[in-house]
Order: sequence, then C-alpha cells, then structure tokens
Amino acid sequence: MHTLPELPFDSTAFKDWTSDETFDRHHGKHHAGYVTKLNAALLDHDLADKELVDVIKSSRGSDQKIFNLAAQHFNHSFFWNCLSESSSEPQGNLTSAIDRDFGSIDAFKEQFATAAGKHFGSGWAWLVQDGDGKLKIVDTHDAETPAGTDLTPLLTLDVWEHAYYLDFKNDRGAFISGFWEHVNWDFVQENLA
Ligand code: MN
Repeated sequence: MHTLPELPFDSTAFKDWTSDETFDRHHGKHHAGYVTKLNAALLDHDLADKELVDVIKSSRGSDQKIFNLAAQHFNHSFFWNCLSESSSEPQGNLTSAIDRDFGSIDAFKEQFATAAGKHFGSGWAWLVQDGDGKLKIVDTHDAETPAGTDLTPLLTLDVWEHAYYLDFKNDRGAFISGFWEHVNWDFVQENLA
C-alpha cells in the first residue's frame, strides 16, 4: 500500500506565497486522490508489492493509468520536500555545481523560471543531475517524471494550474518568483550525488 505523506510544513506557512486553502486542496484532495486511485489500481496487480519508483519504471510506456498515478504520487511527495518554512540559499558543493553548469545561482534561477513559465499546459519544472554528474533543467508534461530514468531529480516545481490558480489566477510568473523564497536547499543538496 502506498501512503500519503504528511506535509513537511504547516499549510499556513507560506501565506505570502501560496495559501493554506491551496495546500489543503493540493495535498488533501489532489495528492490524496492519486494515492487512493493508485492503491485501487494496484489491487491484485503484478506491481502491487513493488516500491514506488519500480512501479513508475515498470509501468512507463506500458500502463498509462498506473504510470500517471504512481508518477504523480512521487512528484507531489518530492515537491513538498522541496519547500521550507525558512528562506535559504544553496550552500557548498551544490553552489559549485550550479555555478559550473549554469554560470551563477541567478542564471540558474532565471533559466529554471523560464522553463517553468514557458511550459505549455500541465507539468513540472525540474533541476536534475545526469549520469555524468552534470546539472540540467528539464520540464515534463502531465505526470511525466525523471524518477525511474537516468536523471536524478534534485528540485521540482509543480506548474499544473491546481498549484497556483486559487492564489495567482493566470499569473504563473508570480507563483514562480515567490517559489525562490521557500526552496528547501538542504533537500536539494541531499539529492545531489
Ligand atoms: Mn499538483
């Protein structure tokens, strides 16, 4: 059985950015719905006892329904961990890796914000690390995820409309700029190889 993780912060923590109403729906309805439907779809299924990333890997390209539910469960759990109540900046080897591959933290933020802002339709913006250790920005459509691929996810931002529409309406750009005040860089650092 897959379980809905608790939010690792208080849903009222980001009122200058995203409201508790958004978090309560996003986590308590959207994410919870993916988990419930995933468990139902996996009943008596070959993948029933597999770890989440193995479910994603095995269903990619072969069972779209299970893939979508498993990937959305992974993506949302990962996204909550990318957020922190206190504002910080990248440190140590994360800073050097970002400087090496993007030029500077500001250049990275700008490229990430462009990818997130230009993404057409529902999806996710990611900072990932490839097999050679290089950092890259990718955007994925709908539930698609770096999980279960050769790319290691380091940071993500949900750009489905349900992530921001209650607070920002169609202004995805304002949602993206506010994100930087709430990134959990310690979590990003932990994901770095
Ligand atoms: Mn979402």
